[in-house]
Amino acid sequence: MQTHDTIAGFRKALDGERAAGRTVGLVPTMGYLHKGHASLMTAAATDCDVVAATIFVNPLQFGPGEDLDAYPRDLDRDRAIAESVGVGHLFTPTVGEMYPDGQPIATIVAVAKVGDDLEGASRPTHFVGVATVVAKLFNIAGPCRAYFGEKDWQQLLIVRQMVRDLDIPVEVVGCPIVRDADGLAMSSRNVRLDPASRAAATVLHRALRAGQAAPDPEPVMAALIDDEPLAELDYAAAIGDRLLVAARFGPTRLIDNMARTAHPSPTLLPGAD
Ligand code: AMP
Repeated sequence: MQTHDTIAGFRKALDGERAAGRTVGLVPTMGYLHKGHASLMTAAATDCDVVAATIFVNPLQFGPGEDLDAYPRDLDRDRAIAESVGVGHLFTPTVGEMYPDGQPIATIVAVAKVGDDLEGASRPTHFVGVATVVAKLFNIAGPCRAYFGEKDWQQLLIVRQMVRDLDIPVEVVGCPIVRDADGLAMSSRNVRLDPASRAAATVLHRALRAGQAAPDPEPVMAALIDDEPLAELDYAAAIGDRLLVAARFGPTRLIDNMARTAHPSPTLLPGAD
């Protein structure tokens, strides 16, 4: 695995792969890798000749008072995980490399409508930060397939919309949510939950399951989360064929979602029921 910390170096490496006739699979992340990230890298390795992953905790997508400084980081561990799942190129830029003129930057990417409600309402500057950094990463990486998790459902819709609207030569691939055995969706932020909150956080998964069984899912999901003393409900929504929830557990805000109709093959890890 080659590690790159400059834009020029990463771009040149991927241009070289394509020049040699190899297809590129791109997996953008904020690091502190877990099995959800690894599943995207494995999918990319299955579909593409070479996998490029990026690790960048993007300040632009964190609002004031959010957990930018507390966001977990462990680059040595991430390198080992990335290499073990077949990543060929790892891009680990500094903030100064990505935003040499500082932030906010003059040019931003804003995707209307799909980003307006839910996460967009709770975190007003979040999706502009996401779309802008993903546009930069796509421009740096060049033509490729890019793998995103359904865990961040709205983010996936936004990235797809941006690629369509701006004719970016990237094929966006959505991948299923990977969960712990008790149903909690894997997230880098889970490590920040104390044991009581970790146990309480399974309420998100339980609420989504209950929502799938209910004709009117929103009040059912909201009531379940409200009943959990350690959870502070942000939203419980049914939009189209998707159920989406968000709640705070102490300082840690978690999101999850599920198809409105249960599918027979949940993406739980072995040992789960
Ligand atoms: P993050 O590092 O949290 O920004 O996530 C990087 C990518 O991994 C995004 O496309 C996420 O949607 C995806 N991802 C995060 N958690 C999971 C999960 N539990 N299952 C599948 N994909 C995930």
